[in-house]
Amino acid sequence: MTSHHVVGVSTGTFVKIGAGGRRLLNEFRHAGDWRLSTKLMVGFMLIAMGAIFFFTKQNETRTTQILTDAQSRLLTSLASSVAVQVETQVLQYRRDTIQVATDPEVVNYMRLSPTDQSAAIASLLSHLGPALKADPDYRLLLMLDPAGHVLVASDPALRGENVSSREFFARGLTATESAPYISDVILADDRTSQVIYTSSPIRDTGGRILGVVAVQISAVHLASLLQSQDLVSRHRNGFLVSQEGVIMSNSVGPRLNYRSVGSLDPAHANAVTKQFGLDSVQSLGLNSLAAEIANARAGGVASAPLLSSQETDVIGFASVPSQHWAVMVAEDQAIFTADVSDLSRTQFFNAFVLALIIGGLVIFVGRAFDTTERESLSDPLTGLANRRFLREILLRELRRAQRSNQPVALIIVDIDHFKAVNDTYGHNAGDEMLEQLSGIMISSVRATDFVVRYGGEEFVILLPETRLVDAQQVAEKLRKTIGETVMESSSRPGATLTCTVSAGVSTYPVDAASGEGLILKADKALYFAKQNGRNRVVTVAEADAPPAAAPVASIKS
Ligand code: GH3
Ligand code: MG
Ligand code: MG
Repeated sequence: MTSHHVVGVSTGTFVKIGAGGRRLLNEFRHAGDWRLSTKLMVGFMLIAMGAIFFFTKQNETRTTQILTDAQSRLLTSLASSVAVQVETQVLQYRRDTIQVATDPEVVNYMRLSPTDQSAAIASLLSHLGPALKADPDYRLLLMLDPAGHVLVASDPALRGENVSSREFFARGLTATESAPYISDVILADDRTSQVIYTSSPIRDTGGRILGVVAVQISAVHLASLLQSQDLVSRHRNGFLVSQEGVIMSNSVGPRLNYRSVGSLDPAHANAVTKQFGLDSVQSLGLNSLAAEIANARAGGVASAPLLSSQETDVIGFASVPSQHWAVMVAEDQAIFTADVSDLSRTQFFNAFVLALIIGGLVIFVGRAFDTTERESLSDPLTGLANRRFLREILLRELRRAQRSNQPVALIIVDIDHFKAVNDTYGHNAGDEMLEQLSGIMISSVRATDFVVRYGGEEFVILLPETRLVDAQQVAEKLRKTIGETVMESSSRPGATLTCTVSAGVSTYPVDAASGEGLILKADKALYFAKQNGRNRVVTVAEADAPPAAAPVASIKS
């Protein structure tokens, strides 16, 4: 009995190349050696991003370094300039003191008897008054006898007091006439304001010490040098540091005054406490900064978290030679590197966007390439693998067969009198028949077999690991199935289309060793089938048989 299979029109565009063909196509798609792969592109993008990030960071580090170097030099020169102003001011204080100590009226006064001295105080003060008032920093004038008692004071309340224990008295006695003693910036007796004492001996013409002149000067003027426009406008802070490394004045605020830059040992701390009139001295713990300032009196640069432990300040420093003081000018590094990191952030963002755009383009092009690749390997009408793909399949399968010593069979199928189908029902109906036949062929073979549209109405079926008899059977079954199938045409509703096919079968390695050879031999067998009545399957052996012994050898249903 013959049953009729009805096959509908396949409209899907799915590549009908069998599971084996799909696997192979997939392998090609992901091979990456001869075509672009999306995965590779994403990897490439990630690497590119990493490289951009790395180089942007490096560039930022280098720019920061250059900026820091330039800034360091600027801060050092600013510190030098402040140091020169401090030095000039100190020299001015010295000159003023020398002037008082060497004033003939002062020297004469010191030689008077105590009663004459008492009487002469008022006239002496009025003589010195204009000079004292000329300098707004002057706070107090003291004239001491050699034992440290106050003979004359601009503040009358101090007259008669004994100041022999004060450092300015002892140091004033021993200072040379040309270089009066200048104290550090110390706390005044009110424990809030800051003052400097300068003192010098008063000598007669023979060099005998008659007493000491001591002047208390407000430190406000010195402090103001640390907050000049040059510094404040750029968030730079000035510091005046004593020989012992104690901050005496600064532009940040009183909280930093009398803090020791580096740590102090207890004995040292004790001396410092006494010297500045403090209860205790606290350290900022910046030992390396303290060491750098102490070791590089000529000036230099350092970095330390001076203003806050969270940020590094670049610090330029210079010395005030006559006092062994140091001036530091500090600037938060983040302030002048902010522009750099801002710039590199923008650069990085731009590069990121660029990489995304390029990556997107590459993926898009890759996808398009994927599509054309797939299209170039398959037949658009039937979705079967095409002739070009067959070449690859043959190469692969024959190599595999050779390695595993297995046979491969090849069947060429050609529709009989297909031209007549076109002529009778039209080209569209012919197309539909081709589609339906390809569906039948795909479903008639194993998943590991390949069905290829070889030409217009010619198909090649490649059957790996298949012997001749089995291939013959497959071809025969296919021929029967097709012959029994009634197909429908959407372009010709109601019309019933049938057709038959002829097939030639060749096998590797018996008939040929190459793919081309196999096709050639199978084609020859097909030709034989056509010559001998069509609708039949012919093997190479049957086609090659000598004509005398060549009855039609095909099996007919
Ligand atoms: P034979 O039995 O000898 O094979 O006869 P045949 O008519 O099938 O063979 P022939 O080679 O003379 O004609 C093949 C025809 O197949 C010619 C062409 O019009 C038709 N054909 C080829 N490709 C297509 C196609 O894609 N669609 C349609 N509708 N027809 C096609
Ligand atoms: Mg034909
Ligand atoms: Mg043909």
